[in-house]
Amino acid sequence: MVTASPRRIIPLRRARRVIPASTCNYEYSYDDLFTERLRASEDDAHTLQTPLPPEYVAMSPAELDERITTAREGLGTQLVVLGHHYQRDEVVKYADFRGDSFKLSQQAASRKEARYIVFCGVHFMAESADILSDPEQAVILPNMAAGCSMADMAATDDVLACWASLNQVTEDKIIPITYMNSAAALKAFCGKYDGAVCTSSNATAVLTWALERGRKVLFFPDQHLGRNTALRLGYTLDDMVVWNPHLPLGGNTPEEIERATFILWRGHCSVHGRFSVEQIVQARERYPDVNVIVHPECKMEVVQASDLNGSTEVISNTITAAPAGTVWAVGTEINLVNRLAQEQPDKTIFCLDPVICPCSTMYRIHPAYIAWVLDNLVAGRVVNQVKVDSEVAKWALVSLDRMLAIT
Ligand code: SF4
Repeated sequence: MVTASPRRIIPLRRARRVIPASTCNYEYSYDDLFTERLRASEDDAHTLQTPLPPEYVAMSPAELDERITTAREGLGTQLVVLGHHYQRDEVVKYADFRGDSFKLSQQAASRKEARYIVFCGVHFMAESADILSDPEQAVILPNMAAGCSMADMAATDDVLACWASLNQVTEDKIIPITYMNSAAALKAFCGKYDGAVCTSSNATAVLTWALERGRKVLFFPDQHLGRNTALRLGYTLDDMVVWNPHLPLGGNTPEEIERATFILWRGHCSVHGRFSVEQIVQARERYPDVNVIVHPECKMEVVQASDLNGSTEVISNTITAAPAGTVWAVGTEINLVNRLAQEQPDKTIFCLDPVICPCSTMYRIHPAYIAWVLDNLVAGRVVNQVKVDSEVAKWALVSLDRMLAIT
């Protein structure tokens, strides 16, 4: 039997929000057709995962390994398997490439000979890979229930309502910037309204670019990355407001909006939100020479109490380049930290949170799902394809291309 059963996990289908006119005065005043395409794209993102055939649920790890290995050999160069850093070892071992979301999407785009791109990550990453790859390439997410709780915190309707409200209370030019961890619909929204995408590696450059074009930035979905980046640029908390999509004007007064340079969407990563200053203090007590490195999705206090912060690629590269004997306390997802520790036994590497759980949505990719999608490919069937609407993909590509031109 498999050690961790691939349970059938179905994402909640988000109910379409009805936004009272008194709350936001939202109207279809921009481009009705475009907003409908954005909404349809969001609905597509919540496609249900069909139950795995019982034979896959019943297979042992060895049987799954044999199935996956045989299928990969049979598909040859037609197939490329991508594995995000946060995937468990039993999944990452099948990856032709490992990396963060954007690096993997670029890998997907560069492998033109591959007809099938199996993305062991979460839904928004597979969408980005589809946008960046050729139309004849099929991007496959082994489990359609593998979403991202942070990306889900910025629903298209809520962002459209926010945009309408902001433009009613201020005449300042607002540049929308979305973190890579967002649905294709929001990347398209940014493309259409003069904004761009950013990653945790290039957020500083992208926000600088945005403020050369507008007086304000609407940043979503991760308030922490937005706040940490704005502080790094020399702004203060007085220059920022947080937008709570469940409150009129996001919980702000018109005067506060008028004064603000940054409107930060009230979203966060549940994994990185667990790290605390207290954990850093304890790590320093235990290892006086420890280097503390955290992801910028962590809270402001945690980033400020650390020695270094950066994307998963930065964390990985920094620790790998460090001399033997160094000690590293890391504030990011546990699978990456454990892998770094296993691969570099000459250093002391540990997670800041000793009881941290893995990213629960990434964890939904199980070898049984990989075996199932690959067996189907061998049989000539494409299952679990992630396909972004052409209009949404066109505008999302605009915002991604802007990011690439900036950095
Ligand atoms: S670690 Fe956080 S941001 Fe990354 S996929 Fe998981 S929930 Fe989303």
